[in-house]
Amino acid sequence: MNCSNKYKILIVEDDTNIRSFIATMLEAAGYQALLADSCSSGLLMFSSYNPDLTILDLGLPDRDGLELLSEVRQKSASPIIILSARSDELDKVYALDHGANDYITKPFGSAELMARVRSALRNSLPRAEEGVLSGKFELDDLLIDYDARRFFMRGEEIKLTQTEYNIIALLSEHLGKVMTYSSIIKAVWGANDIGGTKKLQVNMANIRRKLGIKPGDNKYIVNELGVGYRMQSAE
Ligand code: CA
Repeated sequence: MNCSNKYKILIVEDDTNIRSFIATMLEAAGYQALLADSCSSGLLMFSSYNPDLTILDLGLPDRDGLELLSEVRQKSASPIIILSARSDELDKVYALDHGANDYITKPFGSAELMARVRSALRNSLPRAEEGVLSGKFELDDLLIDYDARRFFMRGEEIKLTQTEYNIIALLSEHLGKVMTYSSIIKAVWGANDIGGTKKLQVNMANIRRKLGIKPGDNKYIVNELGVGYRMQSAE
């Protein structure tokens, strides 16, 4: 493979073992790994190499990784996966609401990391103008006709309410990305909606039932507990 065709992935992580573990894995999978061990070196590497994806640790020796996230987001939409030892849901929610595409909690498995990397790169491919969804969306057995606002599973139409459709369309637009509860509520009902979380849970339960997804089964729609929902391939 020509080196210039490889995806460049920046790893910002101060733990030497984790950093080289990730780098080895990425290189074995054909990616080019760029390494930084602090927030400031990460920012420098980002401006010098303009990576296709960044894997970002939050607990860094000089500054909080969230600061790198907000600085990068001011000038770039390049995907960022948060890698954090923090299991605190608020950190994840904060990062996702401030432009992170995904997060992985330490300790993590190599298969999980690689799946998240592939998903983030796939979903960062150029897409149509945001705002107006048009055309068709297909994911395994699911098909959404954005123009007609109709939803199909294995060719059969599934009748959704306007709200249920809006939730599904929103998740499909951000395929692979965790959408926090508050970001979904804001998009579907508006910013100041009271009781939005409960309404979201009720609608999501109805959507799963209509799709024939059993409670607790993560097919198509994954509930990242305490954080939000992600649409992904049933695989
Ligand atoms: Ca760290």
